[in-house]
Amino acid sequence: MEYPAPVQTLIEQLGKLPGIGRRSAERIALHLLKAGPDASRLLAQAISEAKSKIHNCSRCGSYTESDPCEICQSPRRDPKLVCVVEGPNDVLALERTGAFAGVYHALMGRISPLNGIGPEQLRIAALVERVKREQPAEVVIALGADVESEATAHYLAEQLRPLGVTTSRIGLGLPVGSALEAADEVTLSRALEGRRKV
Ligand SMILES: [Zn+2]
Repeated sequence: MEYPAPVQTLIEQLGKLPGIGRRSAERIALHLLKAGPDASRLLAQAISEAKSKIHNCSRCGSYTESDPCEICQSPRRDPKLVCVVEGPNDVLALERTGAFAGVYHALMGRISPLNGIGPEQLRIAALVERVKREQPAEVVIALGADVESEATAHYLAEQLRPLGVTTSRIGLGLPVGSALEAADEVTLSRALEGRRKV
């Protein structure tokens, strides 16, 4: 049977979310129709509030309500240890491990010539400026284990070398081809511990 148009639209929108197939989208839509008015109102409100209140930290790029973010502002974090990641999701993944006590710098992507993304589209110049200004003791490159991340890491290492900062890459243990944010906490902690100089 065909759903009424507004329900159809809802199913289509839900189906665009990661991990939600057609069947799940239908189930959620029908659940919302059946549930009291509060359920959909609170959900809609939560989505729009998260979207309007959360920004990228101007310093490190991670998700935050305040700018700079809590991590950048925390006296318990070591500002001399900077971890370079692809995006804010990786910051969340690394924070879940509790194994990193430094600060972050999200590139907001990785070099991907096939998708027209070069170094200038990423926060690489900002990283170079930051290293010059803040003179960290070490920059840890924590990118995924796929070809594009590999290329990005090499490019970064080349940019950082003339600055004289110690640069390291997280160790083996990440499955080849995998994204950082998909790794479990134990794997990520080990990858951090096993970082090596480049
Ligand atoms: Zn920050």
